[in-house]
Amino acid sequence: IRKIGVLTSGGDAPGMNPCVRAIVRYGISKGCEVYAVYEGYQGLVDNGIKRMDWKDVRGFLSIGGTNIGTARCMPFKTREGRLQAAQNLIKSGVDSLIVCGGDGSLTGADVFRSEWSGLNEELLKNDRITKEESDAYQHLTIVGLVGSIDNDMSSTDITIGAVTSLHRICEAVDSIATTALSHSRAFVVEVMGRHCGWLALAAGIATGADFVFIPERPPTEENWQDTLCSVAHRHRQLGKRKTVVIVAEGALDKNLKPIKADDIKDILSERLGLDTRVTTLGHTQRGGAPAAFDRILATIQSVEAVDAVLKSTPETPSPMIGMNSNKVTSGPLMKAVELTHEVAKSIGEKNFARAMELRDPQFVE
Ligand code: ADP
Repeated sequence: IRKIGVLTSGGDAPGMNPCVRAIVRYGISKGCEVYAVYEGYQGLVDNGIKRMDWKDVRGFLSIGGTNIGTARCMPFKTREGRLQAAQNLIKSGVDSLIVCGGDGSLTGADVFRSEWSGLNEELLKNDRITKEESDAYQHLTIVGLVGSIDNDMSSTDITIGAVTSLHRICEAVDSIATTALSHSRAFVVEVMGRHCGWLALAAGIATGADFVFIPERPPTEENWQDTLCSVAHRHRQLGKRKTVVIVAEGALDKNLKPIKADDIKDILSERLGLDTRVTTLGHTQRGGAPAAFDRILATIQSVEAVDAVLKSTPETPSPMIGMNSNKVTSGPLMKAVELTHEVAKSIGEKNFARAMELRDPQFVE
């Protein structure tokens, strides 16, 4: 009988709790034992592993964040830390891990699996596990679920939490819009997305913003300030009483210099004489109840993740569960992680078209 561990890792995302709930309940219904690993990889290193019962996840569907905790775990980035993690996992009897997190967490998962036989061997050599334990745990099954508000993973159209976060941003921009209209003000709204402009771009479309700045598609002209001012001015001349500019945290100009909300504010104030304010939405974007879509996405992907554990063999590469063209998909985890890293590399090499294509094919012109 399979003993499945589930952990949530990296930045929290609304929908992680529905993942844990579905994995626990579907796993139990399939005859598995399911274990929660608390505080992400830290729980593997510190042995924070607990058997979950059907009722332990009651109410999880509608709660944001993650009730089993998440953490950024430095020890797991070291071999010694992963050795301890492997020992704890083997002693607990858990033979497979479903990891819900962003690209960092999924990279860690893949590193762990690729090192597994070496870790097992070393633990046996140092008498930290018995021969029987070593033989019984020759392979570790890993399945990745992408929990990230940024929608920054390649090989999937949408990540768990992104839609909720987008919705929260839209509500905030709508609120800002009414006060902007009253005072005829301009607002520069900074949204999350250090390396990914999806939230900013999608929020721009959903709220009818005047201008959007994202990392994958910097302004093509050297003097983007002129373009920004001419667009904002034209919209004002058409009778608009508000100006809304949405800027991703990681927005860049064509020379890869950051474009900051305060810079945009100064330009709008000084050159157009607009009374301009900056609003940084910050962690309100991460919090609150998951939207219906994220509850459903988390649930159906988690079912797929448990099925992937049940049909895995030592030969199959670790899968990542995605969503493509409205279908739940399962593809190689490592490939998705590599493509995601290639986006960052493309941006560094100013190959923005490639970055955009890898990031979000549907948004390419
Ligand atoms: P996210 O999953 O949201 O991208 P991080 O990049 O902070 O978040 O990664 C979360 C955790 O995953 C890290 O704190 C670390 O424990 C683990 N991790 C990330 N990258 C690696 C790696 N290359 N090797 C091993 N573990 C890693």
